[in-house]
Amino acid sequence: MEPTPQKLEMFYEGKAKKLYSTSDPDLVIQYFKDDATAFNAKKRGTIEDKGVMNNRMSELFFTLLEKNGVRTHFVRRLSDREMLCKRLQIIPCETVVRNIVAGSMAKRLGLEEGRDLKRPVVEYYYKSDELDDPLIYPEHAVEFGWASEAENFAIKVMALKVNDVLRKFLDERGVILVDFKLEFGRHHGEVLLGDEICPDTCRFWDKQTRQKLDKDRFRRDLGGVEEAYHEMLRRVES
Ligand code: UDP
Repeated sequence: MEPTPQKLEMFYEGKAKKLYSTSDPDLVIQYFKDDATAFNAKKRGTIEDKGVMNNRMSELFFTLLEKNGVRTHFVRRLSDREMLCKRLQIIPCETVVRNIVAGSMAKRLGLEEGRDLKRPVVEYYYKSDELDDPLIYPEHAVEFGWASEAENFAIKVMALKVNDVLRKFLDERGVILVDFKLEFGRHHGEVLLGDEICPDTCRFWDKQTRQKLDKDRFRRDLGGVEEAYHEMLRRVES
């Protein structure tokens, strides 16, 4: 194993994570906070030990995905809240994959939550806090120089592969993967999966009871937020 590079200055702070540069220009350290936000930061709070749980869950998912041929930015977990990652030039689009109608799709299309989709639906959103992350077509990303045609294609293929791998893995652990959000970036010209994969960025429902085991418990004031994150981690670790 390569020696761990030295942690240098923080160069980015987002809602849930901080990023630090390191003595290796190709690597960064991703630090996971307990801060929780929803509705474009109009709702704020903290979820105890969320950073620790999301770091560990992301490690497990990224490792599983790498084993299944999905290239990610993950290098290794360094501590409870820190992960060593490849430095990415982030593509400013969020990719959402849906298996079941929920959240903004239910609202936008006037559908009831919980309806199965016949095939996974892939959506793209432009990352902009001022604009509330508007839904876009992949053509917009090409037109405005956010991603090339080839990158859009790679992203769609990778997003569907992530869905296949995670859906099967979670199904075996009694969890329905309802939907999730991914972020991608370039590293030496190659598109890699970045960010995190955890109950902040996915909807997980218990297969038997359909109980929510994700950030919707915080968004919708359902209570039992920490317990849901712990339960998800327990299942993913099993
Ligand atoms: N999501 C996310 N970050 C965002 C928006 C959505 O991680 O800024 C995730 C969310 O947790 C869910 C999926 O993407 O698993 C689809 O979210 P949706 O579009 O339904 O939006 P929401 O109603 O959750 O804001």
